[in-house]
Amino acid sequence: MATAAKERLASLASHLASPSAPKPDWPRALEALKSAFPASQLSLDLATREKHGQSWGSLLPPSPPAAVVHALSAADVVAVVRIATSCGIVLIPTGGRTALEGQFTATCCSPLAEDSWNGVVKGKTKPGDRPTIHVSLSRMNQVLALHERDFQAIVQPGIGWQGLNAYLAERGVKLAFPVDPAPGSEFGGMAGVAGSGTNAEWIQSMEVVLMDGSVIRTKGSNRARTLGIITELTVRLAPVVPLKVALTSFPTVQQAVSTVVSMLSSGLTPTSLELLDGTSIKGLNLAKLLPDALPEEPTVLMRFSNPSEAVNQASLETVKAIVQREGGRELRIAKDDQENEELWKARKSQYWSQQLLIGEGCRTLITDVCVPISRLAEFVDRSEVLVHDSGCIAPIVAHIGDGNVHRAILWRGKEGETTRPREVETLAKKLVELALELEGTCAGEHGIGLTKRKYLKAELGDSTLALMRTVKRALDPLNLLNPDKVLFPEGEEQWA
Ligand SMILES: Cc1cc2nc3c(=O)[nH]c(=O)nc-3n(C[C@H](O)[C@H](O)[C@H](O)COP(=O)(O)OP(=O)(O)OC[C@H]3O[C@@H](n4cnc5c(N)ncnc54)[C@H](O)[C@@H]3O)c2cc1C
Repeated sequence: MATAAKERLASLASHLASPSAPKPDWPRALEALKSAFPASQLSLDLATREKHGQSWGSLLPPSPPAAVVHALSAADVVAVVRIATSCGIVLIPTGGRTALEGQFTATCCSPLAEDSWNGVVKGKTKPGDRPTIHVSLSRMNQVLALHERDFQAIVQPGIGWQGLNAYLAERGVKLAFPVDPAPGSEFGGMAGVAGSGTNAEWIQSMEVVLMDGSVIRTKGSNRARTLGIITELTVRLAPVVPLKVALTSFPTVQQAVSTVVSMLSSGLTPTSLELLDGTSIKGLNLAKLLPDALPEEPTVLMRFSNPSEAVNQASLETVKAIVQREGGRELRIAKDDQENEELWKARKSQYWSQQLLIGEGCRTLITDVCVPISRLAEFVDRSEVLVHDSGCIAPIVAHIGDGNVHRAILWRGKEGETTRPREVETLAKKLVELALELEGTCAGEHGIGLTKRKYLKAELGDSTLALMRTVKRALDPLNLLNPDKVLFPEGEEQWA
């Protein structure tokens, strides 16, 4: 949308009165929850709430909700939405709880369920704080329909990509869902953060409960994405065809990137194209995940899936020639399905294996920038200097075919530490600044949540942010659905 139009819309919106949420009434909400849900669907004990308030991939301190409702149907979600809005309680949907950027962290106080909520509690809460209910969609984990000839499945939000693929394999269906973020992530959460590739291409339609209690259906994935609670999704499936994994390494990252660009320019269509730098490979070697150690240098790992082995083989012959021309090592092609699996499993374990580079107490901040492929080599080179100057260790694992580069900044944490050392924060910020300078983004696939809000002014500008606020206000006028994510509370902005 043109900037002038965005500004006009934003200024119009700022004149619209926004209704305010009722004063939070926790005792009434609790009573309503208890009468709407059996004990098996309502967790009020501290242990469950504490576990629910923490993402194991994030360093943010745990923020236990006041209650967890385990929804079994869209009707349950509508019921909890109505209780939250009528009692002024914040509502946060959750899935596998693997989000990295604080996407389901409660930003306001959640009193113990057994405590009464008397507004502001001295020393514990501040004016405006509200208790939070988590509505977990994880028990809504069924495949509702499978349309093999349309390459589609209709799923509930609590099933994950692994669960759906197991379901298809058990029935001998030669289709699969090919996008694979963290093990344990579920479709509702994947759509909620727009996990890699997922929203753009692989989710085709959704059923969503809005904060006025109405249930809508979207055709297309990105409408009303995180502004409602997803209760059903139609996902696209890919045929299962012969697959080949191959890898090779190079003396420099430049050569690896140049090889990838040549592969894509020559029309090759690998289904995955990953870059691990020498430091990442050192972690894999330390973990001894493969029978033989790999050379500790920039490595490109690729997967080809084509209708016949011959097409895979022909693609790999083209890759071989490119690799040779670019000065890479001999292309190692997995000899059978077992080796395909071994190599890919090692790649998927990189998050854990890199911890061995630091050892006991290793903490990780995974950065998630994305740059145009033409600027990738420049990003990798210049970020190498930033990492060197920072004194940090920050191995690369990149979805290089998409320009999405994760540098995992590692350090040894202290017991109970919930903040990041200054040099880690500074390096993360410099990586984002570099990506923006190269016309990229701070968030390739992990979303914004709480931790990347500070970069959005530089990336999007004021008028886009104002437009986003307008949309949020329109769909969640009481600001009770997962507030403070993506956008700062008004007047509390802290830009990086
Ligand atoms: C080791 C590791 C590796 C990872 N690798 C990748 C990767 O390769 N690619 C990638 O994209 N991500 C990756 N991630 C990030 C993470 O896996 C994704 O963010 C994931 O998609 C989140 O899904 P989830 O089910 O865990 O959602 P949650 O963490 O439970 O929730 C995520 C967000 O979605 C919202 N949400 C949850 N359910 C719903 C619903 N039904 N309706 C509306 N909103 C909802 C939540 O409120 C929250 O804002 C990785 C994380 C880890 C820890």
